[in-house]
Amino acid sequence: MTTRIWNFGAGPAALPLPVLEQVRDELLDWRACGMGVMEMSHRGRAFASIIAQAEASLRALLAIPEDYSVLFLQGGATQQFAQVPMNLLAPGQSADYCLTGSWSKKAFVEAQRLATVRCAGSSEAVGFTRLLKPEELDLDPHAAYLHVCTNETIHGVEMPTATPIAGVPAGLPVVADMSSHLLSRPVDVANFALIYAGAQKNIGPAGLTLVILRNDLLARIEPQRPGLPNLMNYAQMAAHGSLLNTPPSFAIYVAALVFQWLQAEGGLSAIEQNNSAKAALLYHCIDSSQGFYINSISPDCRSRMNVPFTLAKPQLDAAFLAQAEAAGLSGLKGHASFGGMRASIYNAMPLAGVRVLVDFMNQFMRQNA
Ligand SMILES: *Cc1c(COP(=O)(O)O)cnc(C)c1O
Repeated sequence: MTTRIWNFGAGPAALPLPVLEQVRDELLDWRACGMGVMEMSHRGRAFASIIAQAEASLRALLAIPEDYSVLFLQGGATQQFAQVPMNLLAPGQSADYCLTGSWSKKAFVEAQRLATVRCAGSSEAVGFTRLLKPEELDLDPHAAYLHVCTNETIHGVEMPTATPIAGVPAGLPVVADMSSHLLSRPVDVANFALIYAGAQKNIGPAGLTLVILRNDLLARIEPQRPGLPNLMNYAQMAAHGSLLNTPPSFAIYVAALVFQWLQAEGGLSAIEQNNSAKAALLYHCIDSSQGFYINSISPDCRSRMNVPFTLAKPQLDAAFLAQAEAAGLSGLKGHASFGGMRASIYNAMPLAGVRVLVDFMNQFMRQNA
């Protein structure tokens, strides 16, 4: 009998149980072909059908327009911090970066090593507790793109994705790191020129990175651009259907099952409702604790996926974590750079799990207030 705990880890994170059960059932023999997906050629017919289904399901879920390509890459979101400027900046071009938390800052610092980029606004002075207001944006009208992180996994700050980003002119290509909330809510893909996401937060196993980009950007990348390795070249990857070399085949297979699970759950609008209900329950617990638990993020941009909070008495942190673990609640320790706690409540975390967490938090407060 397997015992599964409630996993609030930020990533790699919990996967939907029905997906794991299907993976288990198919592990040794995928659809009577006598071997598992981990063992099969990425050039064979079976895997071709798996990656095609992955792309078709993802396109359906996100309603990805025809003029966008989908790439299944490796290297994590961190590799995209480099790959984006290496592909999208021609000599003499510059890009703008919005800094709204640790991840967008990391993306900016990495791009600075490789290209000419500038900061178009930062909320660091206010502790990354809110988004930038349109009037705070200092945009370069000639920028090749504007980079944003639409869900800051560490600071718990989230932007809407179904509407254009406030204050950004229509013609400016927006590149978005959506690693920790892609597929948690509807996205109007047309608002973005390029979307990237590491899989291990809300999509599938670590090792897979999704890139969705508009074909006019692709068309500007020379297949043999000096200084750009083939494996880092979006145009090369697109031309080879993400199979320039061996892809993370097992991770793609699991992600495809996650996409199908999301479709069966009713798609992204349905999952968004569920995610909103989970987040509302947890923030209500924090806000009604009379300062015992604290989340300082501006209420209009609190993340529905990653809920960081601190205890007013940090001397209780260790007891909180130990008792949570004993109650079957795992992964609640906050990021080292932020401290305190963080509950990541991705798609695979059911409302029932958040209820158990909130009951525990209320009980811990009563015992320690
Ligand atoms: C986790 C995360 C990253 C880093 O992902 P890796 O796959 O470890 O490179 C980057 N951006 C965001 C928003 C993240 O949540």
